[in-house]
Amino acid sequence: MDLIDIGANLTHDSFDHDRDAVLQRARDAGVARMVVTGASREHNPLALALARAHPGFLYATAGVHPHHAAEYTDECDAELRALHAHAEVVAVGECGLDYFRDFSPRPAQRKAFERQLQLAAENGKPLFLHQRDAHVDFLAMMKNFDGRLGPAVVHCFTGTREELFDYLDRDWHVGITGWLCDERRGQHLREIVKHIPANRLMVETDAPYLLPRTLRPMPKDRRNEPAFLPHIVNELARDRGEDPAATACASAATARGFFRLPWPASRGASASHGVRASRGELACGRPSSHGC
Ligand SMILES: [Zn+2]
Repeated sequence: MDLIDIGANLTHDSFDHDRDAVLQRARDAGVARMVVTGASREHNPLALALARAHPGFLYATAGVHPHHAAEYTDECDAELRALHAHAEVVAVGECGLDYFRDFSPRPAQRKAFERQLQLAAENGKPLFLHQRDAHVDFLAMMKNFDGRLGPAVVHCFTGTREELFDYLDRDWHVGITGWLCDERRGQHLREIVKHIPANRLMVETDAPYLLPRTLRPMPKDRRNEPAFLPHIVNELARDRGEDPAATACASAATARGFFRLPWPASRGASASHGVRASRGELACGRPSSHGC
């Protein structure tokens, strides 16, 4: 089993006191690899440093989240380009538009997003995208780069059925988080996740945010962590009418291809993957030599 958490904010200071334990619990839960989200000038180098400290286990993205768009200066652009010279940085982002919180002015958000799309068009890396309440502008800006971008994933998808189909029509990927487990805000996702083709679906915790509300027992500090990814996969599989092992296996295969990750060097290292599986690695129908 090679579960891949494609979005973990492991540089967050809530992990400062026990980051190594968090990584170990993730491994023990069957999370074989993770992509550490870089989303600001401050945290991008930390994400790269984490990835370099854990080769083959952690990878990083580097980008500027729309909340931080105001910090996107020429100097910031140069910093990003330097970070992207490293092989451990596997995607441009987190970048995009967020008109829900509007922490940065919208023109600044669009400018920062455009410059990161330009960077992705130049370096050919996949895009790790954030969109909230900005669907129309988001599509329009992406359209300006039609034919010039590599693969794209709209991470932490929380949108409508129409938005989902807009993304799938454009051949983009979708990242599903524990938002799915939120009975107040995520109920609509339960209905529509079955429409996501397996080769466009990836999973993520967005830790330390978005603790799945159906997790039992709940951690006292309410902090989400990658070890809870199998819980999300189990819920997602139920909604898709799939064996959880198949969902896990397919999403990992999709993530490997999307981020161009190498095949795991050693398989079977994680004994218990936490996903309720009965048929193990063959559940996804792939030849056993491929592993999961
Ligand atoms: Zn996001």
